[in-house]
Amino acid sequence: METTLTDTQSWIQERIKQDEIVKYLRGGKDFIDEAVLQNTLRKTKNPDKIKVDAILEKALSLSTLEAEDTATLLNVTDGELWNKIFTVAAQIKRKVYDRRIVTFAPLYTGNMCVNDCLYCGFRCGNTVTERRVLTIDEIKKETEILVGTIGHKRLIVVYGEHPQTDIEYMINSIRAIYSVTVQKGGHDLYIRRVNVNASPLPIEHLKEIKSLGIGVYQVFQETYHKKTYTHIHPKETIKGSYLWRLYCMHRAIESGLEDVGIGALFGLYDWKFEVMGLLYHARELERVFGFGPHTISIPRLEPAVNTPFLQDRKYHVHDEDFKKLVAVLRISIPYAGLILTARESALLRREVVGIGCTQMDASTRIGIGAYSETACEQISERQQFMLGDTRSLDEIVGELADRGSITSFCTAGYRCGRTGKHIMDSLKTGTEAMYCKMNAILTFREWLNDFASPATKQKGELLLHKEIHDLKLKYPNEYDECMGYYQQIMQGKRDIYF
Ligand code: SF4
Repeated sequence: METTLTDTQSWIQERIKQDEIVKYLRGGKDFIDEAVLQNTLRKTKNPDKIKVDAILEKALSLSTLEAEDTATLLNVTDGELWNKIFTVAAQIKRKVYDRRIVTFAPLYTGNMCVNDCLYCGFRCGNTVTERRVLTIDEIKKETEILVGTIGHKRLIVVYGEHPQTDIEYMINSIRAIYSVTVQKGGHDLYIRRVNVNASPLPIEHLKEIKSLGIGVYQVFQETYHKKTYTHIHPKETIKGSYLWRLYCMHRAIESGLEDVGIGALFGLYDWKFEVMGLLYHARELERVFGFGPHTISIPRLEPAVNTPFLQDRKYHVHDEDFKKLVAVLRISIPYAGLILTARESALLRREVVGIGCTQMDASTRIGIGAYSETACEQISERQQFMLGDTRSLDEIVGELADRGSITSFCTAGYRCGRTGKHIMDSLKTGTEAMYCKMNAILTFREWLNDFASPATKQKGELLLHKEIHDLKLKYPNEYDECMGYYQQIMQGKRDIYF
């Protein structure tokens, strides 16, 4: 569908529904009170060791931390204390998620965008970007490769904010992805879970997306700092509305999309402030709906073509600080998945996964239509930013296995109705951990049989042996049933789960 400038202008003007912001305000105010937030960071400076130890002890029992506790951790300056914080973060990750890492792939559907965010290669004012929106046939082709050649089971499908990729296109493309089946080794393979990264949608569109059976709906606030937000998102654009974006998760949950993903783009403003912003966002969702975000994303600003804004590195988050923010988020919001993307280098990802991240993309390509292309180099004119880790899924699965982590391709949660409050409660009682462990074993078994290279398979078999032994010790009552499913997979059955 070609759109004229007048069509686009009226589409922009009709997009924001003020009543879908105002209804969530409390006393006319939003939940990011910058004065309170800054003051909390200020008054917790130079914390003593005893106080930090007490917070870490509380965190280890998976009790909810106060905003002041999180600010205290952020203000630690002592290197030894930070090492302790990293250790506790890793312990909490182990308690809640064991040694599982969930993998997925991003699928960029196009790069048309009506917004003009200063830091983004896709901004409408960037004349060197080659614009393109995938056709439905192209989306199916990309999906076939992701499913049949690489072996992904879950995607995050990424949409720009533009009339050409609005709700009708979203519905058609999600249906197209779910319709693709690839035959391999006598098995039917397909995407089992589509997560969506899109602009903040109005309630009527969110209900339509919900009806398609998606997993997580993800929108990042980019920065919670209002002055910075206003500076980098021109006010005449849709994205210029801080509040329309801030309350999109309220609208999503109200529309029935209970698994929501929040995030901040680190490097736009002070990283400690952004961590506090994410914390306040999570606590607000818990207060209003009784459960927090399903995932938190922590992308850092990366180079993008023809984007001079990125030369200003005033708030650049150095690797050491990046590890700190991961640890503090893991400790402060233990029941949210923490997503570490291929923006980061392989080296840093290796370290950070151990500290607290639970999800990673792999075999990632973010050029529009790039999975179908044979050349594997990145092309800056076609990408929103440049990637730091372009390793294959096979390499990443093999490396994780070597380091004792099992890659989970599980998509059972939302298909069994374990979403929102249900999954949060289930995580807190440990029931979800049991399902997750069994489903990780089963989906890892499938993937090893269908896609692993000989070297990765060898590493994977050793790890599976240990995981199955651990399952027997931890869940003796469920062991036989799980092994029954396991045998069915060995005999050729696919997509069976708890
Ligand atoms: S960050 Fe998103 S909304 Fe902003 S210009 Fe880029 S694609 Fe558009």
